[in-house]
Amino acid sequence: MRILVSNDDGYFAPGIEALARRLQAFAQVTVVAPERDRSAASNSLTLDRPLTVRRAANGFHYVNGTPTDCVHVAITGLFDQPPDLVVSGINDGANMGDDTLYSGTVAAATEGYLLGVPAIAFSLVERGHRHLEAAADLAAELVRRFAGRLGQRPMLLNVNLPSVAAGEIQGMEVTRLGRRHAADPVIRGTNPRGETVYWIGAAGRAREAGPGTDFHAIAQNRVSVTPLDVDLTAGHWIDPVRAWLDA
Ligand code: MN
Repeated sequence: MRILVSNDDGYFAPGIEALARRLQAFAQVTVVAPERDRSAASNSLTLDRPLTVRRAANGFHYVNGTPTDCVHVAITGLFDQPPDLVVSGINDGANMGDDTLYSGTVAAATEGYLLGVPAIAFSLVERGHRHLEAAADLAAELVRRFAGRLGQRPMLLNVNLPSVAAGEIQGMEVTRLGRRHAADPVIRGTNPRGETVYWIGAAGRAREAGPGTDFHAIAQNRVSVTPLDVDLTAGHWIDPVRAWLDA
């Protein structure tokens, strides 16, 4: 099995190193990741300058672009044939609910999916890598378990891993995305030239976090596995908006 590994934290991040190391035990792994932290890059492509792919001493490839650039360049430019699977992560922090819209980790996986390759995004919900080794074991186990079933149809999975020791994991659960409250307001400051500057505030707290959601599974120390799609159509608005147009 050939696996393309990417992330949004950068090719030097502990999360991608731990993930690639586990996957190398049973797959042919190629790492193509951003040269710097591109968290929250979402699905952006770089169209105003060329991209370079360089190789680090450990064999990882790094690109002066976004997570989406990395997967796009790898699949359409580096490989003779598409990989069997794209795996993204392990992100340093959760990607649940609305996070998935902003996440570069999810975007890297999404790019694989859009190019016809099954893809899985992994995120460790607590920043700081405290339980990274346990999370990487779980991620590899999931990849191994799903590998035999992939390939018929492209699919996109968003996996969040609880930040607990291996013995504390309470199983795995298929979930839907919850919702967050609106993000915290920007934080205002002043730069050395006296100009007002703004830091984007923290993500909002969970608002819709009941049973069945990713937030709920993680609160129970369960691995959350959410199948995603990229059709943003609001089906419930089609008829009302059509009625307005016809009025
Ligand atoms: Mn990140």
